[in-house]
Amino acid sequence: MRVIQLQYEGRHVKTTISVIKCDVGSLVGHHIVPEPLLEIAQNQLAKAKEAKLINSFYVFNAGDDLELLMTHEKGEGNSEIHTLAWNTFQEAAEKAKALKLYGAGQDLLKNAFSGNIRGMGPGVAEMEIDERRSDPIIVFAADKASAGSFNYPLYRIFADPMNSAGLVIDTSMFHGFKFEVLDSKKNERVILKSPEELHELVGLLGSSTRYTVSRIWQAKDHLLCAVTSTTKLSLIAGKYVGKDDPVAIIRAQHGLPAVGEILVPFLHTYFVEGWMRGSHWGPLMPVALKDSKCTVFDGPPRMVALGFQVCDGHIANLKDGKPMVADLFDDPAFELARREATETAAMIRRMGEFQPARLSQEAMEYTTLPQILEKLKDRFKPS
Ligand SMILES: [Mg+2]
Repeated sequence: MRVIQLQYEGRHVKTTISVIKCDVGSLVGHHIVPEPLLEIAQNQLAKAKEAKLINSFYVFNAGDDLELLMTHEKGEGNSEIHTLAWNTFQEAAEKAKALKLYGAGQDLLKNAFSGNIRGMGPGVAEMEIDERRSDPIIVFAADKASAGSFNYPLYRIFADPMNSAGLVIDTSMFHGFKFEVLDSKKNERVILKSPEELHELVGLLGSSTRYTVSRIWQAKDHLLCAVTSTTKLSLIAGKYVGKDDPVAIIRAQHGLPAVGEILVPFLHTYFVEGWMRGSHWGPLMPVALKDSKCTVFDGPPRMVALGFQVCDGHIANLKDGKPMVADLFDDPAFELARREATETAAMIRRMGEFQPARLSQEAMEYTTLPQILEKLKDRFKPS
């Protein structure tokens, strides 16, 4: 084993999994990342692999979001890795501009890049791990959805024994999990322990427009087992510039929830904030990569799930170096959720622009609603 060999040589190497994503422009409105942009990312990351900056990579799209999945040994928040992602997005955005694609460079909110992509617009989820004997990983990526979209499934996976049998059956999971919850308004964090503080946890996570799970650890030994991107684009830009379209990385098995326990919350649809103009509640549809594209009312919001094994710093690969990646929602078992999402989408769209189809007044403050109020301000009289 490489790690054992390196430890023997006096070096302890950890593996970092980075998922960095950005909407750099898309084909026909906010639909998909077209081939030329995926090619740019593929070429950039292939060069970085050749230069041994990264060990392995997989480029894919979640609707109109370009997703870079990379493994390396540089740790989280590394400036070389973030620069690679930033430059890749810049080049793809330039191509998008040249092709007059829609929303070219839309998530690249700031110009003064100084080595860390956080707070610049793109979403980031990174996890540095000591590889276990076998380390199954699932990466989730959503489109037309907000940063809080993982609250509900993460609660189910790591805190609900009715979802994850391991919480009851596997004694190594009896100690529960610690959730780091981010208050996106105040930019503060709190760590809550499940099951002891389950009610407080659900109290916060239920307000998914404000509170988001950023990290989860196994309580007994602080093993990191889930991370999400928590970027709130509207809070960075101060106005609506597109929805957050978050990503998450979750580790599975051996004292953590099984792969099937991580996927079972998606047996049914659930509502997320996002959809058309990022301003509506919409039912989440779990889809295969081939259906990772939003259509009806720019939706319904979609999520893909990719599974792989980490092997000596790499995504376990075929002989030719091609990473082995499982498209986990490419399965008839999720047909029910897809049908429910379509039916629920049809139902809530009858409400048009009336709450609860449309987001709350507070969320609409980042859209053009303040302009409507400004236009009418002199016509409001005491009632
Ligand atoms: Mg998007």
